[in-house]
Amino acid sequence: MTPGTDAERGPGPTPSARLDAILAQGRPTLSCEFFPPKSDRGEANLWQALARLQAIAPDFVSVTYGAGGSTQARTRRIVRRIRRETSLPPVAHLTCVGATRRELTALLDGYRADGIDNILALRGDPPEGMARFEAVAGGFAHASDLVSFITARGDFSVAVATYPEGHPESPGGMMDDVRYLKLKQECGAVAAITQYFFDNEAFYRFRDAAAAAGVTIPIIPGIMPIADYHRIVGFSAMCGASIPTWLAARMEPIAGDSEAVRAAGVELAVAQCADLLAHGAPGLHFYCLNRAEMTLEIVRALPGVRPRPTAQ
Ligand code: FAD
Repeated sequence: MTPGTDAERGPGPTPSARLDAILAQGRPTLSCEFFPPKSDRGEANLWQALARLQAIAPDFVSVTYGAGGSTQARTRRIVRRIRRETSLPPVAHLTCVGATRRELTALLDGYRADGIDNILALRGDPPEGMARFEAVAGGFAHASDLVSFITARGDFSVAVATYPEGHPESPGGMMDDVRYLKLKQECGAVAAITQYFFDNEAFYRFRDAAAAAGVTIPIIPGIMPIADYHRIVGFSAMCGASIPTWLAARMEPIAGDSEAVRAAGVELAVAQCADLLAHGAPGLHFYCLNRAEMTLEIVRALPGVRPRPTAQ
């Protein structure tokens, strides 16, 4: 028996738990994103959150790859453990940062051996101290190149990132991102997950423009539940997500009261998700920040999105 065969994979999902198959089921998906923690305590929290989130049976869970490629080993270890010990299909994030084709090949071969079917292919942000992203010699400059490389290497289902309000480096704003999303689709991507946003109209404009440009893959909205308003404002300024005036008007007066912010954060996310589903969103991807509570509350409050039994 070779390593990675089904019999060795424990209770993990079968190979059919690929993103393309999951997304072809014809109902909105639920998914959650985790990051590899730096401490043992953080890691214990992650496993606790994952266990609790099984109650809403996420269709897949993704694990980020640290800025500058800094968490490669941790990302792989967590993805592998999700694959072996849970019924949740994992998606491993992978970036071009500091990686040569040779290193990427070794990593992808490792994922293949681990029975990992799904990769979220990203360019990544410039490493600290570097103003602009620069590909290393023998590496890639754009996520689309990484998508081509992965799809050419084997049987992975590849998703990509996209930006309804425009990536901060896109001089042409949203239309640049439409163009490059189309390119990523042509390179073999089967789905896109968006940067978080609070303005649903921006998402609908982007989705319509992408459809008009020939993008046919599902564009799954990324949802950021607000637990700490000031932190979200700071982060949004860096990643290009706008803070609508109605959101600021609601949050600023209560920003110092963490309980009130959290309650409003749940209420606003429920309204946002309900509107997205009513407008045909193919799924909801929660940036859960390794915590289960807010995502559980939001999903349970959504009309028509019932907890489904887990496969185990
Ligand atoms: P690209 O698609 O390459 O785009 C980057 C910029 O280049 C954009 O301005 C785009 O318009 C432009 N561009 C794209 N293709 C071309 C081309 N062919 N020619 C010229 N210009 C082009 N970062 C991490 O480090 N780790 C993670 O795990 C991670 N996960 C993420 C998950 C999601 C869902 C999202 C939305 C983002 C994530 N990020 C992560 C952040 C991401 O790495 C950054 O936003 C990064 O700056 C861009 O990555 P990309 O894959 O979108 O790059």
